[in-house]
Amino acid sequence: MKDHIEKYSKFPVTCPNSCGVLTLREMIANHTEDDCPLTMMPCPYEQMGCKTKIQRREMGSHLQSAMRLHLDLACVKINTTEETLNETRKLGYITQN
Ligand SMILES: [Zn+2]
Ligand SMILES: [Zn+2]
Repeated sequence: MKDHIEKYSKFPVTCPNSCGVLTLREMIANHTEDDCPLTMMPCPYEQMGCKTKIQRREMGSHLQSAMRLHLDLACVKINTTEETLNETRKLGYITQN
């Protein structure tokens, strides 16, 4: 039974994203997560508010074309964080006195 599973995991499969890669079944998750050019992935500026989801191979051009947007988002994020900090300080000041 164990043998059977091991053989199964060594079975070559093609990438589910159809990028043309043939790899071992046990490696396919690594491939789609880390290598596959066709994997849809969120923009690294997701935390800043960019909701773009894009194929890995398109990410470079997204980063180029959305540079301005990302800067604006980062700017807004910093301002919001500072406002929140100021509010927190004000609150701290009021409760202390
Ligand atoms: Zn692939
Ligand atoms: Zn983006």
